Amino acid sequence: MSRFWSELVHGLSPYVPGEQPQIPGLVKLNTNESPFGPSPKAIEAIRAAAADTLRLYPDPQATRLREVLAAYHKVSPEQVFVGNGSDEVLAHTFAALLKQAAPLLFPDVTYSFYPVYCRLLGIDYATVPLDAEMRVRIDDYVDRPGPVIVANPNAPTGIALSRAEIARLAAAHSDVAVVIDEAYVDFGAETAIPLISEHPNLLVVQTMSKSRALAGLRVGYAIGAAGLIEGLTRVKDSFNSYPLGRPAQAGAIASIEDDAYFQQARSVIVKNRADLTAALARLGFEVLPSSANFVFVRHPDHSGQALATALRQRAVLVRHFTAPRIADYLRITIGSETELARLTDALREVLAQNG
Ligand code: PMP
Repeated sequence: MSRFWSELVHGLSPYVPGEQPQIPGLVKLNTNESPFGPSPKAIEAIRAAAADTLRLYPDPQATRLREVLAAYHKVSPEQVFVGNGSDEVLAHTFAALLKQAAPLLFPDVTYSFYPVYCRLLGIDYATVPLDAEMRVRIDDYVDRPGPVIVANPNAPTGIALSRAEIARLAAAHSDVAVVIDEAYVDFGAETAIPLISEHPNLLVVQTMSKSRALAGLRVGYAIGAAGLIEGLTRVKDSFNSYPLGRPAQAGAIASIEDDAYFQQARSVIVKNRADLTAALARLGFEVLPSSANFVFVRHPDHSGQALATALRQRAVLVRHFTAPRIADYLRITIGSETELARLTDALREVLAQNG
């Protein structure tokens, strides 16, 4: 605390990201990073960008990257916004679109950054409980006013909504923005991007941090009607004109262009998820049906906190949240086969000792 803080700072309760500890031999399954490196072509492009040209500012509009993303997603460049990780894209989205007369709606269990942006930006919000099976129920949103943000697949549950359900949500809220945070969509959910042509209120946010293994590069983007994108650009240009450096723009372009690598990497994650789900079920865990690169699990006989602590003592890091509805669960990132074998071995040992 400092007496020099502005009043705003006193009222903040910042987001706490998953730990990034330096533990030798650590199996790190706590922040949904990819166990594989990014496309070698992306690394090559980033290296090539580490050149004399770094003395020059990057393209503030990231024109080429937006063109490449537009071609990939079959939209036009005016329908694409890029930012420094999808966290920054989300922050600008909250400022540009989600502060309206009626409170912003989002699930009670979702990405815990959403209420943090609301407090920073003075946005009134109301949470809508997930149902008993931890699913988002669109029926609980359709008759309420106010903009909406939903993560699809949801985090930390991993459960996905269908594109048809997203269309129903967007149609029911046609006079306000509906934002779909698709950070994990590439691991098995349907993207809502094809709906943007029919729904001028629909904004889809994606990231290159997960399925493209570029969390360290910080590139995220949003796709929606040109009017929504213009709103985001106005906020960005009132905040930081150059959110993506030259290496980030170059690396992101090369990653999108290397589709073979992307497809291969994500299919391994999907396979490892199925194997891990089966292995955890054999150990007595209840595993929510995941369309993401993590699973959300609980054991009937062991608390989430106790399991997370016991795993940490064995140099296996998973994510545990203390919020009331999810305190019994662990969120486990889908790692490589070797990492997941280390996890299941450690769990077997912990369950045998405490069973
Ligand atoms: N949305 C969701 C649901 C997430 O879990 C994350 C990762 N913490 C993000 C957005 C932000 O990811 P990034 O800023 O790396 O794009």
